Amino acid sequence: MVYLDNAATTRPCEPAVSAVFQNMVEDYGNPSSLHKIGLIAEQNLTEARKSVAAALVCDPQCIVFTSGATECNNTAVFGIAKNYGKRKKKIVVSAVEHPSVSEPVKQLEEQGFEVVRVKPSRDGTIAAEDFIAAVDENTCLASCMMVNNETGAIQPVRRIFSAIKRDHPECITHCDAVQGFMKIPIKSAELFADVIVVSGHKVHAVKGVGAMYIRKGIRVAPLLLGGGQEKNLRSGTESVPLIAGFGAAVRALMPTMPIASDNADKIRTYLLKKLANLEYVTVNSPVESSSPYIINFSVEGIRSEIMLHYLEEREIYVSSGSACAKGAHSSVLSEMGIPSKLADSAIRVSLSRTTTMGEIDQLINAIREGYSSLAKTK
Ligand code: PMP
Repeated sequence: MVYLDNAATTRPCEPAVSAVFQNMVEDYGNPSSLHKIGLIAEQNLTEARKSVAAALVCDPQCIVFTSGATECNNTAVFGIAKNYGKRKKKIVVSAVEHPSVSEPVKQLEEQGFEVVRVKPSRDGTIAAEDFIAAVDENTCLASCMMVNNETGAIQPVRRIFSAIKRDHPECITHCDAVQGFMKIPIKSAELFADVIVVSGHKVHAVKGVGAMYIRKGIRVAPLLLGGGQEKNLRSGTESVPLIAGFGAAVRALMPTMPIASDNADKIRTYLLKKLANLEYVTVNSPVESSSPYIINFSVEGIRSEIMLHYLEEREIYVSSGSACAKGAHSSVLSEMGIPSKLADSAIRVSLSRTTTMGEIDQLINAIREGYSSLAKTK
């Protein structure tokens, strides 16, 4: 099979799987227990925390583990609004955030916050100056994702956050870095984000684990109250197996990130060259400022699901928009001003570090065949 839906989820790597296994069958203690078995679990947790912290170049004390990026983003948005939004009632976000950011923001809007959603340009990128101009002294939260999950657009987050921190140091900055983590080098201090969110299953760990970096001194109110785990920020017994698996994936794959990125760059260039030969294909991803791992394009006149299932029958797995939208019309593409006819035929191909040119050839051949047979039956 040809799996090209890595922005939805990735195949867990062997070190992640064995760490999960080890922490289920042997090191199964509760990290809060005071005896030796608990201590071993706690050590495994610490090890994972160090690994994720090293990948974000931060102090391990700044890392909080959760059930995934959705929980991290909800915690960040609600937790920042709660502690910093008592008097300052404005929130600035990009208009192309993942629902785990945009939905909590919408709820705060319903509760009385003023929300400014900064629109992208036609290629899906946010103009840094538009975002910066929207932030003022009443803004408690500024949130912009690093890489868009549907188009791969890389947002100028460093420029945005550094300007905000210079002009309005009290505004809290939040970055959903899920699709950038372990693909684009991230140094927490240089990003000027107070909160950075990452997810395990997008980087070859297993589903159900995420982490957030919270800069020292930033007070994010917890969503979950209870036993006070994760420095009172996320109560509930830590899922040590999943967290250990996350740490193991990061340790195993981080050293080869530059090689993997080079490879993805080559594959993307190859795919774009092949797509350029198909006159019925329009590329929706930005040409310049784009992650090499995500390519979004439309096949004229063929609805996304029809092409997706045609490819599926040939064991080629892609996505229509994002997996989270579950077939719903993509708000990201419509925010970009892409006509609905094109948006309805959008396909997202997302690469992994093991994608080959041969797999791209198979995809292109299948699209070509699909177009000629499906266009006829239209
Ligand atoms: N943010 C972005 C940009 C994503 O792509 C995703 C996953 N689709 C999430 C957040 C949510 O991550 P998780 O599945 O870990 O909750």
